[in-house]
Amino acid sequence: MGKLTFSMGGVHPHDSKYARECAIEELPLPQTVYVSMAQHLGAPAKPLVAVGDSVKVGQVIAEPGGFISAFVHSPVSGTVKSIAPRKDLAGNPVMHVEIAVEGDEWDPAIDRSKDLVTAIPDDRAAILDRIKACGVVGLGGATFPTHVKLNPAPGKVAECLILNGAECEPFLTSDYRIMIERPKEIVVGAAIMQKVLGGCKCVIGIEENKPEAIASMSAAVRELGYPGIEVQTLKKRYPQGGEKQLIDAVMHRQVKSGGLPIDVGAVVQNVGTSLAVYEAVQKNKPLITNVLTITGDKIPGNLQHNYLFRIGMPLSWIVEQAGGVPETAAKLISGGPMMGKAISNLDATTVKGSSSVLYLSEEATRRQPETGCIRCGKCADACPMGLEPFLLNRLYKAADLEGLERNAAQDCIECGCCLYSCPAHIPLLDNIRQAKGQVMGVIRARAAAAKAAAEAAKAAAEPKK
Ligand code: SF4
Ligand code: SF4
Repeated sequence: MGKLTFSMGGVHPHDSKYARECAIEELPLPQTVYVSMAQHLGAPAKPLVAVGDSVKVGQVIAEPGGFISAFVHSPVSGTVKSIAPRKDLAGNPVMHVEIAVEGDEWDPAIDRSKDLVTAIPDDRAAILDRIKACGVVGLGGATFPTHVKLNPAPGKVAECLILNGAECEPFLTSDYRIMIERPKEIVVGAAIMQKVLGGCKCVIGIEENKPEAIASMSAAVRELGYPGIEVQTLKKRYPQGGEKQLIDAVMHRQVKSGGLPIDVGAVVQNVGTSLAVYEAVQKNKPLITNVLTITGDKIPGNLQHNYLFRIGMPLSWIVEQAGGVPETAAKLISGGPMMGKAISNLDATTVKGSSSVLYLSEEATRRQPETGCIRCGKCADACPMGLEPFLLNRLYKAADLEGLERNAAQDCIECGCCLYSCPAHIPLLDNIRQAKGQVMGVIRARAAAAKAAAEAAKAAAEPKK
């Protein structure tokens, strides 16, 4: 097969992968970590420890707060100092467990050897339980609990597991580095997920601008010899790593508005998640570490890094280890420049899904003055979801919620292609993101009201005792 890509829209920003040659370095431990209870999609976790408790590395410190939620484990050994709200990246208060670091004593049930374990366990339910118990969540951005995603509803069948190694956001290189440095573990993780999903095929999608990662992953697939796993080269085109875009590229199927990947037989997981699944199932290691990139434009090579971090490490401390904030940095972003979020608070701490600290210069962040829409249609041509961003922007300004829903603002994947393409520099992404939030609120309220009405009707129909 040639190089695959998605069928609609997309843009070609410079990839700026300046940190690609920086091997993963393990960060030393700080004196204190602050572990967030809201580091996954869904309900926050509920603390299981109390102030004064001693904890080991890998010990459970919080349990899921709902069906869509995840366990959280201590990333360090030490003493719990407080359980209190603390500001996250955006400055919002979130419950954190503060732990004073004392030594580095791991839960003895965790296998810390570097030995590769390739035998895939037989018991599907036991694998899912282990993934859940180890708090594994999707590391491609959404942090959706992995045990839920790997357990499709009755009647839904997974035909293809797509492993996302596209890393299409400019600057980010953490997925690239793990594909170079831990390819076999990623492939074993893929084989485990294949097993859980009933033996479907697996396609590992990697963009063409990462030939070393393609070679490294292909060699691991060949050497390990699991059936039904292949590496597929993808064209370099943003947002190639979007879930719906990957399914389109690899399976030539479209997920309908409001639908899920499993509706078309697909399950998409990130390569980082596959590594976390390997560590959970084969090593009993909870998700307490991940890799993030420290990079940016106009910064020297010695300030670029790929770090193995533990959750709960303050960003300020990581930045200090990396040589401090460069003078040229006008803006700090968590994630890539297209979809990342501004860091308003360097006291915020790393979470399972942290992928980068990106320094952008004033030149890279300067917004051109907004002018009027010239109806060029470039935003619509660039939209990978087939939306009409100029229209959504107009409807947002008119506060027309009905019109926004009718024109599928809820399908926006917040990729920023429209903003990137607009010659009038209209803040399309900001406005459409707001619009999407409002429409999603309406859709959720409607669903809750329908559920309540159905339950009331059912209760009324039941014979009275
Ligand atoms: S941000 Fe939304 S509207 Fe804009 S191009 Fe991406 S999907 Fe389309
Ligand atoms: S790209 Fe900008 S100027 Fe062109 S139609 Fe879209 S909103 Fe208008």
